[in-house]
Amino acid sequence: MSITQKKDIRALTKEQLRDFFVAQGDKAFRGNQVYEWLWQKNAHNFNAMTNVSKQTREMLEANFVINHINVDQIQRSSDGTVKNAVRLHDGLIVESVLIPTKTRTTACVSSQVGCSLDCNFCATAQLKRMRNLNPDEIYDQVAAINKESLLYHNHKLSNIVFMGMGEPLMNYNNVLKSIEKITSPEGLGMSPRRITLSTSGIPKMIKKMADDGVKFNLAVSLHSAIDEIRAKIMPFSKNFPLEDLREALAYWYAKTKSIVTYEYIVWKGINDDKKSIQALVQFCKYVPCKVNLIEYNPIDEGEFQQATRQAINNYISNLEMHDIVVNVRRSRGKDIDAACGQLANKS
Ligand code: SAH
Repeated sequence: MSITQKKDIRALTKEQLRDFFVAQGDKAFRGNQVYEWLWQKNAHNFNAMTNVSKQTREMLEANFVINHINVDQIQRSSDGTVKNAVRLHDGLIVESVLIPTKTRTTACVSSQVGCSLDCNFCATAQLKRMRNLNPDEIYDQVAAINKESLLYHNHKLSNIVFMGMGEPLMNYNNVLKSIEKITSPEGLGMSPRRITLSTSGIPKMIKKMADDGVKFNLAVSLHSAIDEIRAKIMPFSKNFPLEDLREALAYWYAKTKSIVTYEYIVWKGINDDKKSIQALVQFCKYVPCKVNLIEYNPIDEGEFQQATRQAINNYISNLEMHDIVVNVRRSRGKDIDAACGQLANKS
């Protein structure tokens, strides 16, 4: 069998792996052992599977590949943030980030190579989408950061955000499968409550997630509650009017009872006016939510500039006046281009 014909063994479920061994005249239990090596013990090759006979390892080698990621380069920021450049089996690269704070350690992971969307203020958008990541490629990023967290901070990863490269809802099935594995006791055993999926807001997919009964948190990159402005900064959103988004989020909340986080950057001359603030306050009334005001990370000399402190304070006071919870999120890892919107494989 040539290399290209070999199957990625981690595309198999545990059941399929057990069946494979039975078909080979071996015991189904062997499937459990191998499965554990593949996921919990993070084996990069068949030789690492020391409780499996050499003959079986050679048989696996002849039939399958393990398309494990390789962390090619690790950059450490002065604020403790770590950025991994991750090489995939086909040579493409994505980035993931470990963000430590006093109370938590968060992994920010990628879901696509490049991105399907075209947000004008985001460096990843300039890469275009090359391909979707497989569930195991997403899982491996988390496992790698978990290892680094143990190494550098002496404790396990506490949170995961899908805020790296890509639009997770454009790679929904694989993202969901990766989360199943991350939360499974046979994977990393993390609670879904500690996972946040961030989307630019694709109404149909938000409803689908609600129907699927997912248990993780949802964040929406809103940035404007006025269609015309949003269409200018996030051109794809022309196809997804705010009214549809609002309706999908109401559906999400009705089904999941999980509040939505709106991510929002305030830019000079774009959305730092009264009308924009009022529109956001109004938008926040439809569905239980909170707002994270994100610091803008400049990606070039371009048209986008962080608004003044005064403009941000205006947002905060107006939101608070209407009892809407608002947090200001300082950015991390800027010096190594690891902050939100800066992931673009510069290395
Ligand atoms: N596609 C998803 C996830 C990736 S972007 C989404 O849009 O949510 C993760 C977050 O970084 C989003 O909230 C996005 O709006 C924000 N972001 C993008 N570019 C940024 C920049 N230059 N500065 C600060 N935040 C940025």
